[in-house]
Amino acid sequence: MSLELDRRLADVGTRFRIFPQPRFLQKADGSGPLFPEPEEVTVSVEPGAMQAGPGDDRMFVIDAIGKLPYNRFFRPPFRGDARPPVQAGDDGHFDHLDPAGREFSAATMYATVRRVLDIWEDYFGRTIQWHFESDFSRLELIPLIEWDNAQSGYGFLEFGFGRKPNGTIDHDRPFCENFDVLAHELGHSIIFAEVGVPASPQDEAIDYGGMHESAGDLVAIVASLHFHSVVDMLLDSTKGNLLTINGLDRVGELSDSREIRVVFNSRRMSDVGEEPHDRSLPLTGAIFDIMVEVFQQDLVAKKLISEDLRTRSTNLPGTSQDLLEIEAEFTAAYTGNEAAFKDSLLRARDYLGRLLAVTWSRISPDFLTYHGVLRTLLAADREITGGENVPIIRSCFAWREIAPVPTSLMLRQHTLVDCGLTAGKGVTVPDPGAPADPQIPAPRANGAAFVNRL
Ligand SMILES: [Zn+2]
Repeated sequence: MSLELDRRLADVGTRFRIFPQPRFLQKADGSGPLFPEPEEVTVSVEPGAMQAGPGDDRMFVIDAIGKLPYNRFFRPPFRGDARPPVQAGDDGHFDHLDPAGREFSAATMYATVRRVLDIWEDYFGRTIQWHFESDFSRLELIPLIEWDNAQSGYGFLEFGFGRKPNGTIDHDRPFCENFDVLAHELGHSIIFAEVGVPASPQDEAIDYGGMHESAGDLVAIVASLHFHSVVDMLLDSTKGNLLTINGLDRVGELSDSREIRVVFNSRRMSDVGEEPHDRSLPLTGAIFDIMVEVFQQDLVAKKLISEDLRTRSTNLPGTSQDLLEIEAEFTAAYTGNEAAFKDSLLRARDYLGRLLAVTWSRISPDFLTYHGVLRTLLAADREITGGENVPIIRSCFAWREIAPVPTSLMLRQHTLVDCGLTAGKGVTVPDPGAPADPQIPAPRANGAAFVNRL
């Protein structure tokens, strides 16, 4: 599991420095960047196996010159002119690069993607084979093209820059240095590789689309929670009260982080439509809530918070007075116990990573529904913990109104008559061909007024 991953890599891997969050995120008091210094990360590739670029046997950076974005007819491998590959320092590591230079950006792109892949391969417990393996053995990473956009595609990630308010390219905002964006895009690749794509043209894939976007965000947030600075900032600002509903105001300066905004959302199925990003929000919220609940459960087990505080913070009491009280109680509990809170959060993070890896390994992409994701998560929990967290998973999904689709055959009731077991006639032989009674309406799960359109 991941807590051990870093201990394992520290002695054998190659060192890089990357920014946990974009440099343009500012402190609330305007005194400077929220993350002023890059942090050291160690990737799993040994210095002796690293290539200039940087690159390795799974991916490589190519800093293309004058390249236009790939499209339907222009695809990898890139064969045009490129700048010289970035070289390791004398000690074989890449942590010597100046954050002001172009080489730093190129190395950051490699280190981020490699680090996120390391983290998720650790949760999967095996190598994640690329979905484009029939054509390419390595992922092509193109860091800084003159484009106010970024894209991932079959065998490549290519990144440009953000946009200034006047619509021109903002060279101070290279997407390739944005950990969340890179991790999100790699998340799509992981889903293509591990879940696959729907086979039937009849499959509208509405929940599949939402699941894909949700997975990108979950891959990114779990990976972000491997930066000590991000975890410390999150805990210090919330005092461990990570309740996501109405929680954005508690995360302080981190609320400018895209991933934090996405996971601290309070959307339910009745709030969203079919557009994949919109539809992803209740699923992302439900799954992130599982981590928060497991974290709180551990705090109770360690007697760091009371069961009563946990219950009150989970079941929103609804008055600002209660919220202030809850906040004060969390502050009292957290103060002096920072390390124990952090340990619980990292364990909950690793549980979530493993839960998602098992789920994504098992689930079919065909006619996928959020309810199917829920059932696979429950099965995954039974495999990992023996079903300890089943009640948590169930309640997090119920709150988000994720339930069987109203037309699901699963919800149809079968009376004795339907089954050919009519009372009074003695034992009758069921007629397997008997149609289900169309007059029986499917119940609406949770009594919720949502429409799940698959
Ligand atoms: Zn996406």
